[in-house]
Amino acid sequence: MTLKLLIAAFLQSLGIVFLATLPYRLALTRVKSQANRRMVSGIVLTACALGSMTVPVTLVDGLIFDMRHVFLILAATYGGVPAAILMAAATLAYRLFVGGPGVPAGVVGIVLCTLLGIAIAQWSRIGGLTRTQRLVLMGLCASLSLAGLAVTPQETAVIVLSHAGPIFVIANFVGVVLTATMLDHEQARVMREQALAEDASHDALTGLVNRRSFDRRAPEVIAKARAQGRPCSLLLVDIDYFKRVNDTHGHPAGDAVLRAVADILNARSGTSGMAARLGGEEFAILLPGVDEISARRKAERLRTEVAETSHDVGDAKISVTVSIGIDTIIDDGRPFQEAFSRADAALYRAKQTGRNRVTAGRAA
Ligand code: GH3
Ligand code: MG
Ligand code: MG
Repeated sequence: MTLKLLIAAFLQSLGIVFLATLPYRLALTRVKSQANRRMVSGIVLTACALGSMTVPVTLVDGLIFDMRHVFLILAATYGGVPAAILMAAATLAYRLFVGGPGVPAGVVGIVLCTLLGIAIAQWSRIGGLTRTQRLVLMGLCASLSLAGLAVTPQETAVIVLSHAGPIFVIANFVGVVLTATMLDHEQARVMREQALAEDASHDALTGLVNRRSFDRRAPEVIAKARAQGRPCSLLLVDIDYFKRVNDTHGHPAGDAVLRAVADILNARSGTSGMAARLGGEEFAILLPGVDEISARRKAERLRTEVAETSHDVGDAKISVTVSIGIDTIIDDGRPFQEAFSRADAALYRAKQTGRNRVTAGRAA
């Protein structure tokens, strides 16, 4: 009977773990900062521990068993020390609320598992444990919570250990391994998806946003600036006579120049701006909150910086210049494509009138 109940409690806890997969996944994908992500993961695991405590098995009057130790031992590894402390506080509060003669044993088990979980997480972090060693250690340590029985009467402890000891140890071990595997699996999947999304939206050579991603994001950036009543300036940048760099110094030298120019554009676009490689030796920078006068000034500084930068290509040192076309979008409802065409026309004029210069769309 006890065995059946313990197995049922174990399966219910596994169900809770599966239910936790979705919020855990959302925490990994939606929460940006690493610290907040760990804290949200800790909260999800705390909810699992409390959920598990709501489906306990009563072995001897007042002594309850559940899978809380699985989550307590994992908390520090997946949520950090603050999450482990949060979980300890929440499970202790719940155990005290449930009450009964098993409270001292429960308190000892929770505190012990939390401390062991923190120690294993730290040991792992400094590289002292492989993943398998960590899993085995956590799986076994979850059952050290049975040490809490030392504070119960001896005959009660003997009854509990002989009836439930082995199955409790097995359930904890399997619970830890399965839960950790699920959490690792989700982490790896989210990282793979993020790497794929990064590849799909960025240019491999320069690391800048690619054309497709720029076309998708630019209207959003412009709409946001418009909603705030702010202007938004678009700079189209094309390297002058770039073909000659390839023809004279070779394609790898051309690549190095492209990367260097892209780095300058990226650095000059600031935190709110977006620099993109549209293709070949053509780039764009979108600057929300920047009016036409400031855009001209920025573009002029950019042009000068590129012209004054020299690039080592084999034995030679070369420099390149850029032509820049600008259009500033104000709150007049013009679509992004129109701004793009005007900036492109301005760039064409810059090329026609001698290159290495900045031309604004409104001059047309
Ligand atoms: P203009 O001043 O009129 O812009 O002349 P340009 O030579 O810069 O323009 P053109 O369009 O004639 O040549 C662009 C060159 O850029 C041709 C192409 O081989 C080169 N290019 C495009 N993509 C890459 C790349 O990824 N790496 C390298 N090294 N070269 C590239
Ligand atoms: Mg060019
Ligand atoms: Mg070009």
